[in-house]
Amino acid sequence: MSAFKSGYVGIVGKPNVGKSTLLNRLVGQKVAITSSKPQTTRTRIMGVLTDKDYQIVFIDTPGIHQPEDQLHQFMMREIDDTIKDVDIILFMTEVSPKTHPEDQLAIDYLKKINKPILWILNKIDQNPGADLAEIRRYKDLFVFMDYLSISALQGTGCDRVISKIIELLPEGPQFYPEDTLTDRTERFLIAELIREKVYDLLRQEIPYSVAVVTEEVQERPDKKNYVKAVIYVEKDSQKGILIGGKGQMLKKLGQEARKEIEILLQKQVYLDLWVKVKKNWRKNPVALKEFGLEG
Ligand code: GDP
Ligand code: MG
Repeated sequence: MSAFKSGYVGIVGKPNVGKSTLLNRLVGQKVAITSSKPQTTRTRIMGVLTDKDYQIVFIDTPGIHQPEDQLHQFMMREIDDTIKDVDIILFMTEVSPKTHPEDQLAIDYLKKINKPILWILNKIDQNPGADLAEIRRYKDLFVFMDYLSISALQGTGCDRVISKIIELLPEGPQFYPEDTLTDRTERFLIAELIREKVYDLLRQEIPYSVAVVTEEVQERPDKKNYVKAVIYVEKDSQKGILIGGKGQMLKKLGQEARKEIEILLQKQVYLDLWVKVKKNWRKNPVALKEFGLEG
């Protein structure tokens, strides 16, 4: 019988390459929100995959980017802290004809790190066959342990990611009980699902100004569970957009978020959703802390 293996695996790369999509795929449940807009992920998110002879603890990170304000600095610190603790790094890029400046930023960042790095080339479904040229180009830029081309969205190649990781994992204990999926609380996951819908439904600039806090979750045996959440924005004008004419936008947001929250809680939910203004919260350390984005 082979010994139990375990370890931490960090998922890094520029924004929007599919890191959170891969995490959800690998652990088989939605623990991280995803969107077509970059910088959706703000904090480290853990996802655990346990089998009878291994446990992999994945850490999804915000995309590697040039820090611009306090929120961005926090996001980069989340990446630094993750890299320090992991055994293996998955460096993700997406199929594209040239190296993006932000991929280059990520490569420069990783060059300083002395840990096994697997290069994951994602979104091969968008451009089948394009990966070969790209692999040649990347080989000149960086030395990787190995590389794999995948489609996180469709699942192609994802089993190979797991078997490659298992090969590299050290022997070790089971860190978390086998039913653990994430270190995040139910309240955090609920807030994130609401934030995801804001990214889906609203114009470019609004989502970046949004923070969501779950204020109350009441389990009610004979009724729908009661969930109260507040969407914080930075300006009065943004509040107006989020609520929409006759409250239509907030209603739609609430309906779509509720469906996802019901999947998470496995129970019907009454979602009581509010919008409040917290002026310039992204530059305000106290507000960042309140929203769990400072630490
Ligand atoms: P992250 O910022 O790196 O965490 O990226 P996300 O996981 O949020 O994904 C960014 C966008 O790319 C979303 O719209 C995903 O649906 C999409 N995406 C992720 N993986 C794939 C893939 O394998 N193929 C395609 N076509 N789209 C993908
Ligand atoms: Mg993400």
